[in-house]
Amino acid sequence: MKSPLKSTYLSDYLKPAQIVFNLKATSKIRALEELLDVLFKQKLIKNKKLILTRIIDRERLESTAIGHHVALPHARVNTGGDLAIAIGKSEKGIEFDSIDNKKVHLVILVVWNPTLPGLFSHLFAGLAQFLRKPGFRQRLFAANNKSELYNALSEVELLLPQEDKIISRASLLWKLQEIEIKKIKAKKEQRKKLGEQADLIREELDQALIDRYDRLMERYGFAVAEVDMGACQGCNINVATQMSSAIEGSNDIYICENCGKFLVTSKNKKK
Ligand SMILES: [Zn+2]
Repeated sequence: MKSPLKSTYLSDYLKPAQIVFNLKATSKIRALEELLDVLFKQKLIKNKKLILTRIIDRERLESTAIGHHVALPHARVNTGGDLAIAIGKSEKGIEFDSIDNKKVHLVILVVWNPTLPGLFSHLFAGLAQFLRKPGFRQRLFAANNKSELYNALSEVELLLPQEDKIISRASLLWKLQEIEIKKIKAKKEQRKKLGEQADLIREELDQALIDRYDRLMERYGFAVAEVDMGACQGCNINVATQMSSAIEGSNDIYICENCGKFLVTSKNKKK
């Protein structure tokens, strides 16, 4: 059986140019800006301001300083690629509201594509496994120059989801609808759990999609319709053949030209 995860190395996503050997910043926000500048220069991100805002929002929820002088600030923003990583080391240390109140000496900033839910948790798991080892942390902090730091970081092995296991946004919307319809009829104690599941999916999707989804749900009681035998099950009108075949296995969002609902292939339902 094919494993749903593929083995890869941090170096597949990291060039030496994405490493700042000695961060100038001493504050959290300045450090984040310094690393975002690097990603911007490397053309790995476009909208620095938006990403900074998202990262800060996430930090407000809970500091991403995970202890042992390491922080992992992150944001889920579509930047065109799958993953953008920048890593900065700080000699003086940065105030990061760390859980162990220690200053942060290594900042690993990650921006990842919202169409790849689960990517960050796998990346995080892989990094944490290495960062937990005192010997490995020691090597990072003791690196004398950028290439020593890069070489140590390059050893980090990651297990990331295979491309074909990437969940499409359309099927996430379908899943969200299933959960929210179930929630309406559910008992009080179950409603809370379903609400939490729905929130997790909502977090993965862009706001514009969610807004549209909510408007449709409010108006019709459902927002996502299956395409079955070439017809939209929301309105029973045939979908253009071209569109019907494009929807198959696609990660794009399609909308019924007649009723305006999001379209998914019927196989998504069985999943
Ligand atoms: Zn329709």
